[in-house]
Amino acid sequence: MNIAKVIVDVPASSINQTFDYLIPDRFADILTNGMRVIVPFGPRKIMGFVVERTDKSSFDKLKEISDVLDLTPALTPELLELGKWIANETLSFYITALQAMLPQALKSKYKKEIVRATGEELPENLENIFAGRDFISYEEFEGSTISYTQLQKAVQSGDVYIEYLVKSKITKKYVTMIRPAKESYLLEEALLELSNGAKKQKQLLQFFIEHPEPIEQKLLLNKVETTTSTVKALIDKSLLESDKQEVFRNPYNDEAFARTLPLVLTEQQETAIRPIKERIANGVHDVFLLHGVTGSGKTEIYLQAIQDVIEKGEEAIVLVPEISLTPQMVNRFKGRFGSEVAVMHSALSAGEKYDEWRRIQRKEAKVVVGARSAIFAPFENIGIIIIDEEHETTYKQDDQPRYHARDVAIKRAKTHHCPVVLGSATPTLESFARAEKGVYQLATLSKRTNDQAMPEVEIVDMRSELHAGNRTMFSRKLKEKIEQCLEKGEQIVLLLNRRGYSTFVMCRDCGHVKECPHCDIALTYHKKYNQLKCHYCSYEEPMPTVCPECNSDLIRYFGTGTQRVEEALTALIPEASVIRMDVDTTRRKGSHEKLLSQFANKEADILLGTQMIAKGLDFENVTLVGVLTADSMLHLPDFRSSEKTFQLLTQVSGRAGRHELTGEVIVQTYTPDHYSIELASKYNFKDFYKKEMQTRKAFQYPPYVFLVLLTISHPNHVKVAQTSQRIVQLLAKSLQNNTVILGPTPSPIPRIKDRYRYQCMIKYKDEPQLRFYINKVLDQFADEMRKDDLLITVDMQPYHLM
Ligand code: ADP
Ligand code: ZN
Ligand code: ZN
Repeated sequence: MNIAKVIVDVPASSINQTFDYLIPDRFADILTNGMRVIVPFGPRKIMGFVVERTDKSSFDKLKEISDVLDLTPALTPELLELGKWIANETLSFYITALQAMLPQALKSKYKKEIVRATGEELPENLENIFAGRDFISYEEFEGSTISYTQLQKAVQSGDVYIEYLVKSKITKKYVTMIRPAKESYLLEEALLELSNGAKKQKQLLQFFIEHPEPIEQKLLLNKVETTTSTVKALIDKSLLESDKQEVFRNPYNDEAFARTLPLVLTEQQETAIRPIKERIANGVHDVFLLHGVTGSGKTEIYLQAIQDVIEKGEEAIVLVPEISLTPQMVNRFKGRFGSEVAVMHSALSAGEKYDEWRRIQRKEAKVVVGARSAIFAPFENIGIIIIDEEHETTYKQDDQPRYHARDVAIKRAKTHHCPVVLGSATPTLESFARAEKGVYQLATLSKRTNDQAMPEVEIVDMRSELHAGNRTMFSRKLKEKIEQCLEKGEQIVLLLNRRGYSTFVMCRDCGHVKECPHCDIALTYHKKYNQLKCHYCSYEEPMPTVCPECNSDLIRYFGTGTQRVEEALTALIPEASVIRMDVDTTRRKGSHEKLLSQFANKEADILLGTQMIAKGLDFENVTLVGVLTADSMLHLPDFRSSEKTFQLLTQVSGRAGRHELTGEVIVQTYTPDHYSIELASKYNFKDFYKKEMQTRKAFQYPPYVFLVLLTISHPNHVKVAQTSQRIVQLLAKSLQNNTVILGPTPSPIPRIKDRYRYQCMIKYKDEPQLRFYINKVLDQFADEMRKDDLLITVDMQPYHLM
């Protein structure tokens, strides 16, 4: 078996296949599937994944593998298979699918080190090159006489491990530890000798006399309220010592989480969890849709199901939307399972993510809580996969490979013979329809655990506000309620439903709207810099003083950004203090958490924000939720706009009155009669579902059909139009008669970054050969894509239709 089949890191259709390489003797014993290797490819050396070892090749004169990057395979056999499945399902390249499963740290350039894992003596010849050091560079090992097999053994037995240094930035983190250099009685003597002026030094010495154990410098400085120079002074006097100690970047301080115990379940929870526990116990796959209103105790069900899984010696994956991966959410899992929980989300640095991933790989963590990509956690005995807020669109990846985490979850759970639990207060129509058909098992939690009623929702018609002469964005009702709240010292959440709505600039004389010169989309006004910006290509220009079309000076910005709302709000109710949460105020790492904890500590009366405040937050003092413009996304060119409106309104209403205090919700809208707004105000999911299903059936949209969105783009307008036409013709010839192809038409955003965009949509019920035909079309245009800058993207079951 001296030949390896390798998937190389070149995403192009002509090389979506394996290449054969000879395995040099030195790697013969260690190389297994799923390891990353470096191989010669043309004039270059590139990375690849070993997917198979074999004796035979249909080629002679094979090149040799130049280097092996992992001693523990980066991907398990299951994940290698899964990658193939994803590539096929999403029509992406195998290599792209494999790359998507790895943490960032393993994708960039890096150096390697071999690190001593314990304080114990290493096997003899290894100890020789380590020569007492804690780590050596990988090159040192390669230059030595030690074999790869020996090293692999040492890794497997836990004597050493391999560390990747990302982009020459060290991924390892050290802390400085301070300890006494002498016995306590010697310190006491020294204390007497210190001059009276050295007050700080005395304090510090006193501290170590009382606490002789080593302490992290940062902590020490806090405790003794002193500075590094004081510490240094005592080190210089040989009274203290310092050294650096490696720490695993556990971004969470596990000891800080108060441990929680399982709660006694309510009757509804009992009924819902019973079949899930039963599948766990018997190792049977099934998909459960847990439909429970906000505050009905879904999370407690997740926790207790996971408990069973851990006791069985298996592992759990919990997906939550990025935005609701808040400290509150993390607390609940860490509180129950402590350091057995690994957390994966985008606010962690590449190094932190890598450390968490490695804890999973080494089986130190049993539960991963994370955003979409955590579905690829390298567990080997999965006992349950949970997807919270299953309706969230962030579970669908926007780039290649365009997978949906729910599909991947079900695929993995089938392999592992374990249940999947999809939880939501507002399930997608697709999932609920499957539950109705019996494909998924439906479990319902209709009551909040504390028997609190859902907050009362009042709809305010903004048209009548206007007729009554109120031109502000706050109805009289909302203003009055806010003021009442303030008087009682209670808090308020205000949602600006802003998607598809921004501060564009328009001339009041001629109606001219300032657009980006590279993208057919209105520029957004940023007040702080008095600049116009394009959100698609980052183009920017200063705010004009006169209209470029008619020279009128009545050019103004329109629409409602959060900034403007904040200004209007403080003008209207000057005594209110406001925390604004939007992309601008949360760009910096950690700022999201900071703003939320400020609000939780009642440092402000009002939390004002976009969609990001609608989810998962739980503040006991919030009694009023206001939605400023409920209908602003109702008119987007998207067949899901009613569903998304219903979901958002239901979610945000659930933020009020979650504890002792009763809550209230005010929804402002220009279309008070729309069923999504009306039914959301009554928490009537069932009727919404029925009504929306009728619409989907009438217009033939999912879940009645499946969709594929093809987007074709190129700098030349004529070329795009012609190519799109040809693609549609080719597909029409191959696909079945009851399959509908819409288009080609210009995309809703017809130009981005100087590229014209056309799209066509395929609606089908059953089209077994669909992927084959689309691939055939892609092959036909492969040359043009490579040489002529033509781009064709295929999105199976798309979520964004823009
Ligand atoms: P959801 O995830 O459905 O929004 P949560 O799991 O957050 O609901 O539960 C809402 C509140 O009810 C939480 O404060 C939780 O601690 C509490 N809770 C959940 N289950 C129980 C129970 N069986 N008994 C008492 N309190 C519970
Ligand atoms: Zn004008
Ligand atoms: Zn642009």
